[in-house]
Amino acid sequence: MEYRFLGSSGLKVSALSYGAWVTFGDQIDEDIAADCMRTAYDAGVNFFDNAEVYAGGRAETMMGNIIKKVGWKRSDLVLSTKIYWGGSGPNDKGLSRKHIIEGADASLDRLQVEYVDLIFCHRPDLDTPIEETVRAMAHIVDQGQAFYWGTSEWSSEQIRAAHDIARREHLVPPTMEQPQYNMFHRDRVEKEYLPLYTEMGLGTTIWSPLASGLLTGKYSEGIPPKSRASLPTYRWIRRRFESPEGQLQIEKVKKLGDVAADLGISLPRLAIAWCLRNPYVSTVITGASKPEQVKENMQALDDLTALTPEIMEMIEAILDNIPTKEQNFR
Ligand code: NDP
Repeated sequence: MEYRFLGSSGLKVSALSYGAWVTFGDQIDEDIAADCMRTAYDAGVNFFDNAEVYAGGRAETMMGNIIKKVGWKRSDLVLSTKIYWGGSGPNDKGLSRKHIIEGADASLDRLQVEYVDLIFCHRPDLDTPIEETVRAMAHIVDQGQAFYWGTSEWSSEQIRAAHDIARREHLVPPTMEQPQYNMFHRDRVEKEYLPLYTEMGLGTTIWSPLASGLLTGKYSEGIPPKSRASLPTYRWIRRRFESPEGQLQIEKVKKLGDVAADLGISLPRLAIAWCLRNPYVSTVITGASKPEQVKENMQALDDLTALTPEIMEMIEAILDNIPTKEQNFR
C-alpha cells in the first residue's frame, strides 16, 4: 500500500480506502462486511469511510461492531463520518450547530468510538450561515470528537468562504473535500478545485471511482441481477445507466475494456488506477459488495506504471471529456 498525506495536513491515508455506502446495512450483512473490511485492512487500507445517513445509521453500527470484534488498534485506523441527513425531524437535517453537534454525538455512539479522524459536512446547507457551520465544526475538532473537518460536494466558492471565516476567527479551517471523481466525472477535481490545492493545501478523498460499477463493464449487456443498479432502493442509478447519456458511457466503457485487456488487467483496476494517477487525489474510496472485489480493486496500485503517456492518450481519446482549461488572455 502507498500512504499519501491528506492535502497539506500531517495525516497519512492509504491511497486506496474503503467505504460503506449502499452496501453496509442495505445490501450485505455484517459477516460479509467484516470480510470486506478485513480484506481491505490486510491489503494495507487504514481509512474507512462512513456517514450518518448510510442505511439510516446501520452502516455506522455495523462498522463499529466489526472494528470492535476484530480488535484493530484505534490508532492504526483513520475513520470518517459525514453529517447532513440525520433523520426526519425539523432539526435532524442540514448543518445547523444543533444538528452538527447532535449528529456527531449519535455517529460516535453508533461507531462505538470516542472520536473519528475525519468529519465532513456531507453537502452544503444553503439555509444555514456558513459561519454557524464553521464554528460548529471547529467546536467538534476542539472537543476532540474529530481531528480534521472538511466538506463534501461544496463549490470552491463555498470552501473558500469557510476557510476565510475560519482564518479570520482563528478557528480550525476545513482541510479536505470529498468529491465524486472518476473517468466520467472530472470537472471539480481537475478544474474547479485546482487553485485550492495550493492556496489551502486541500486534500481530497474521492468517491465512486467506478461510477457505481458502470466502469467495471458489468452493465454492458443490461442490468445484472444483484448488482447495485438492480436494487429497488437505487432505481435512480438504473435509470441513469439506461438514459441516453448512460448508454453513451457504456459504449465508451466497452472501448476502455479493450485497452484494459491489451494491458492484461481488469477494467475496474484500470479505472481505479486512472483516479490514483491524479496527484491531488489523497485517497480513492473504493466500494465493494464482496471481498473478491476488494481484492481485485486493491491491485490497482500495481497498475500505475501501466498508465504510460501513450495509454493515457488512448484513454483520453475514448473519454473525450478533458475539462476545458481557464483561458489566460495575457
Ligand atoms: P464505486 O463507484 O467504486 O462502486 C462500488 C460498487 O461497484 C460496488 O459496491 C460493487 O457493486 C461494484 N464493484 C466494485 N468493485 C468491483 C469489481 N472489482 N468488479 C465488479 N463490480 C465491482 O464506489 P462507491 O459508489 O461505492 O463509492 C465508494 C465510497 O465513497 C462509498 O462507499 C462511500 O464511502 C463514499 N461515497 C461518498 C459520497 C459522498 O457524497 N461524499 C457519495 C457516494 C459514495 P455491486 O457488486 O453491488 O454491483
